[in-house]
Amino acid sequence: MAFEGLAERLQGTLNKIRGKGKVSEADVKEMMREVRFALLEADVNFKVVKEFITSVKERAVGQEVLKSLTPGQQVIKVVNEELTALMGGEQSKIAVANKPPTIVMMAGLQGAGKTTTTAKLANHLRKKHNRKPLMVAADIYRPAAIKQLETLGKQLDIPVFSMGDQVSPVEITKNALAKAKEEHHDYVLIDTAGRLHVDEDLMKELDDIKALADPDEILLVVDAMTGQDAVNVAESFNERLGITGIVLTKLDGDTRGGAALSVKAVTGTPIKFAGMGEKVDALEPFYPDRMASRILG
Ligand code: GDP
Repeated sequence: MAFEGLAERLQGTLNKIRGKGKVSEADVKEMMREVRFALLEADVNFKVVKEFITSVKERAVGQEVLKSLTPGQQVIKVVNEELTALMGGEQSKIAVANKPPTIVMMAGLQGAGKTTTTAKLANHLRKKHNRKPLMVAADIYRPAAIKQLETLGKQLDIPVFSMGDQVSPVEITKNALAKAKEEHHDYVLIDTAGRLHVDEDLMKELDDIKALADPDEILLVVDAMTGQDAVNVAESFNERLGITGIVLTKLDGDTRGGAALSVKAVTGTPIKFAGMGEKVDALEPFYPDRMASRILG
């Protein structure tokens, strides 16, 4: 299960303080030392850990906390709130254009789960928001990506626009947008080209699609299992392209938690959705408060 080690360690640490009728500054310090180790071991970015510890300490050693009737519980409440804030605080929703269609570019490296997530998101938009999405097969580089999206489209009965892999992604996007207008789709999800690594060709191509489509949302799909690599990828994409949201996939796996806890703080971009499995309905809006509570038990 995701966050297992982190949850176990944090809960163990917090339990020591939970029932205490009296908590001293030294108790908080000792507790935060353990929290720091737990976060670092879960592969959370060290700068993020440092800032997190500082904010919790500042709040937790305040008189109203330590002198309260239930200081142990109050300290835990502070940790919970700061953990929630670290992951973005409020749930961050997908954009809606003033004038349809809302255009969403899906970006990410090969294997992150971009194509699967495109289909999951289309399914989510139709099921939960009653939308009429069009998916666009513009990943012409990964063998079988187009076929994969078409198969998922058939399975979901959601249309897929494709022109094969001999036409440029910009050209595909241009035609897809015309089609979306014609058929009154209110969301267009573009499965853009993935690559094995972040490189200039990839960024240039995404830039060109962005310039043409003027997307309302650029969602970067990253694999939670890759920890700080996922954070680094998000930072590169954000600096070069500008992203508006992150989809963290494979949170159903046994990720330690580093990506989920660091990526918002490092990039300033919120996690909007979490991938929770391989099936098309395994996509959930990302709720920082629920995630924090899940970690802290
Ligand atoms: P792409 O290259 O980024 O388009 O990646 P794919 O969409 O083909 O996904 C790569 C692999 O990851 C596939 O086997 C997917 O089934 C799997 N995958 C995607 N999202 C999730 C997820 O949230 N959980 C799990 N367990 N597997 C996922």
